[in-house]
Amino acid sequence: MQVYGLVGSPVEHSLSPPMHEAAYEELGLDARYVTLEPDADRLDEAFAGADALGVAGLNVTVPFKQDALAHVEPSPTAEAVGAINTIDFGPETPVGYNTDVSGVTRSFAHHDVTIDGSSAVVVGAGGAGRAAAYALADTGATVHVANRTVERATELATTFSEFGVTGAGLGSLESTVPDADLVVNATSVGMEEDASPVPAALLHEDLAVLDAVYAPLETRLLRDAAAVGATTIDGAWMLLYQGVEAFERWTGETAPVDVMNDALRSHL
Ligand code: NAP
Repeated sequence: MQVYGLVGSPVEHSLSPPMHEAAYEELGLDARYVTLEPDADRLDEAFAGADALGVAGLNVTVPFKQDALAHVEPSPTAEAVGAINTIDFGPETPVGYNTDVSGVTRSFAHHDVTIDGSSAVVVGAGGAGRAAAYALADTGATVHVANRTVERATELATTFSEFGVTGAGLGSLESTVPDADLVVNATSVGMEEDASPVPAALLHEDLAVLDAVYAPLETRLLRDAAAVGATTIDGAWMLLYQGVEAFERWTGETAPVDVMNDALRSHL
């Protein structure tokens, strides 16, 4: 039996176990997906132990995505983003991937939204913001990052300066969103309260809006966007496609995307 899992804190309510186990069942794979919460100061032991025990692969989530990078051979994409969310232990050195990047690009592709040549605004400069900014810029979008803490936005813009990414505070939404084609909410705003990080008056019908928040599925931002006729993409799509890439890297099989999507959405 192959063992996969998710390392983070907290992870008890994660939707990854049902999503991945539905795929194992569909393809008849003898595999399990478990959730693990290691001590933050024993991450190196946790990964070495998992490797020694023959764990095949791990997803990594908050708060370990950045720290985990030091324990693996990062893929070029993971190195560029500066964080990983997937480890393939494989036969040699564990390799770290950032599948949040394809989570973003495939979410737009699934909704027939073209990234290349577009003008995109990413709200948020944490882990999801970094992955989204990289994903969009690397696919040919002109990207602006707006973040509550201005320094984090400008730091991110500096990191991705080769792509011409710009960064500023949330006040910059006023001048950027009206002319944008894409907006990604990569903040946690909308999770705990019925609030949106983007003033509704700035939204317009030519936008495609991806909200990384998936609980609730229908956030205030997506409701506001739908009200003006914009294309809306909920956070479960991003969660689905980051899981699809992880599954395919681990198993070498084509992921049963519809089965994973159904399993995920039935738990939301
Ligand atoms: P993170 O690294 O902790 O970053 C949090 C971000 O949210 C920062 O930019 C922070 O701004 C901003 N923020 C928090 N509270 C805010 C507020 N009240 N007003 C304005 N900005 C605020 O977290 P993360 O890993 O990037 O995750 C961000 C969100 O994306 C979470 O909701 C997470 O669940 C979601 N996510 C979804 C997926 C998916 O597959 N759907 C994948 C990854 C993450 P400051 O820098 O100013 O603190």
